[in-house]
Amino acid sequence: MTNKLIYFVANWKMFGSIASISIIKKIGHFLIAFRRLKKIKIVFCLPYTLIYLFSQKNRASNISIGAQNCHQSQNYGALTGRINASMIKNAGAKYIILGHSENRSDGDSNKIIKEKIFSSLNEKLNVIFCIGETLSEKKNKKTFNVLRKQINSSLKKKMNFNKIIIAYEPIWSIGTGRTLNSKDLIRIFKFISRHMKKNFKIKKSPILLYGGSVNQRNIKLFSNIPMIDGFLIGGSSQSSKKLIDIIKNYYK
Ligand code: PEP
Repeated sequence: MTNKLIYFVANWKMFGSIASISIIKKIGHFLIAFRRLKKIKIVFCLPYTLIYLFSQKNRASNISIGAQNCHQSQNYGALTGRINASMIKNAGAKYIILGHSENRSDGDSNKIIKEKIFSSLNEKLNVIFCIGETLSEKKNKKTFNVLRKQINSSLKKKMNFNKIIIAYEPIWSIGTGRTLNSKDLIRIFKFISRHMKKNFKIKKSPILLYGGSVNQRNIKLFSNIPMIDGFLIGGSSQSSKKLIDIIKNYYK
């Protein structure tokens, strides 16, 4: 069993009210009693409306608050309904998800995602950069090409790779209950790690997460794969019980 720091990143998507702070508090209490306390990092990526309040209320040192997207502009502007990285930072977030497939399908191109990454790094936010292929790309054996293109078009050598986490999220797995087998997972994580080191001339691979239908029943499958440093969890992160069971089962 691994002794390294494992990330459990909750992507709440369009979920949560002020009362949802109880979920974070329950996770905080659980972590205090859990013997692997020092080896776990939890990040709650919240809707914008909850970032400030929950950042103020969160007292747990190994729980951080994050956002789920931002506008690429570094300045204020006539952009109704948009929020930039500096506003997110000012509200108390330490992390930000960028390039999520649900935002890519709303129009976020690789180029726009690159600009969002630059503006978030400027604000010293930790970026969780999502990549992943569609089902038809997988069936046509295009996975590596797609991942290479997403990485090469949005990440640049001058970026601070200590502040970039890569989340591999196959689109066909998000919210569907379907996941990859261990053999494919190992191949893909090895590919990402090697590509990052070779292409960006970095000694150490960035932290690598897996996302897509992670739940309390399938988490064990991933715990034996050493290249996976943690998880981006959507639906199952909206319940403290499910999230606690995921963490417990990971270490079983
Ligand atoms: C996600 O949206 O990032 C995600 C992984 O969702 P789910 O866990 O629900 O598949």
